Amino acid sequence: MGIFDRIKRAFTGEDQVVKEELKEKDTEIVFDKYDKGMEKTRKNFSERIADLFTSFREIDEDFYEDLEEAFIGADVGFNMTIALTDAIRDAIEEENVNRPEDVKRVVLEQMVSIYEKNETGSVAIKENPDGPTVILFVGVNGVGKTTSVGKIGYNLKQEGKKVIMTAGDTFRAGAIEQLNVWGERLDIPVVTGKANSDPASVVFDAVKQANEENYDYLLVDTAGRLQTKANLMEELAKMKRIIERENPNGVQEVFLVLDATTGQNALIQAKQFNEATEITGLVLTKLDGTAKGGVVLSIRYDLDIPVKYIGLGEQATDLQQFDPEQYMYNLVRDVIEDKQA
Ligand code: GDP
Repeated sequence: MGIFDRIKRAFTGEDQVVKEELKEKDTEIVFDKYDKGMEKTRKNFSERIADLFTSFREIDEDFYEDLEEAFIGADVGFNMTIALTDAIRDAIEEENVNRPEDVKRVVLEQMVSIYEKNETGSVAIKENPDGPTVILFVGVNGVGKTTSVGKIGYNLKQEGKKVIMTAGDTFRAGAIEQLNVWGERLDIPVVTGKANSDPASVVFDAVKQANEENYDYLLVDTAGRLQTKANLMEELAKMKRIIERENPNGVQEVFLVLDATTGQNALIQAKQFNEATEITGLVLTKLDGTAKGGVVLSIRYDLDIPVKYIGLGEQATDLQQFDPEQYMYNLVRDVIEDKQA
């Protein structure tokens, strides 16, 4: 069953059934992580929708303007807001609805269906059939890059995979130390070089070891300094070349780590990085700490890059593979449960 059908059913009085189904689908633990991690975003979104309907009189231009404001305020982004409002306008006219509860249903249905139309790619990691799967992690300092490397390492290890990590950010002693701490805590080996040594040489050693010792995954933390785009392009291209020397299939994934609390700035960063190198997936951290979780919709709409993981807390188990259904349901759930408002 698609996301759209499930949420539509939730809206027509089966919300408890749908909730139970989602708990079963990905286990209750996953449901709870989304439930708690998205609390601020859900509250922000439902309050904006509730406000919209408190002053609702009829479908007129004021209504559409307020609707647009609600979406922008929920960090859904400009382009997505315009497309969404147009789709809602068409659906309202087509179905000829005007009772608040019907209008609300149409709003949610269109949100889910526009999301489905923009579904981009799989959340699964692309595997290397002939050797270690290499994942580069890029992103500016402070977004949660090193933490995400550790957490994804943990996830993969839990799946029974053999994982090795390397601290490609040799410019900050703190970054090397931090990855070492994760490695010790999770019992995952970490390849490091001296502070300020050439990152490419550290990565070379790591690929060599990953190959020789038959690791399934090599996770590469890279430097977050981005003086110029040319600089970044050069650095990453060099790293990829070095990796290809030892691992003929090269790099399988380049994950850009973004901090969700920065809202639309995360989108700007994604565009800049994507111009410097091909980003194959996004890791969106700190969703638990922000009401700006609507940015996932905006990223989906504006960029053709799948969100692969989202960070729903600080624990190793809090980084979850992105599940659009859990996300959408947890975004709109309070609005569904508050049908009478
Ligand atoms: P880096 O500079 O990009 O490598 O960032 P770090 O990995 O050092 O993370 C910066 C801070 O963000 C740390 O205090 C992390 O604990 C925190 N952090 C990372 N991911 C998450 C998340 O999903 N949720 C929360 N609440 N904090 C996070």
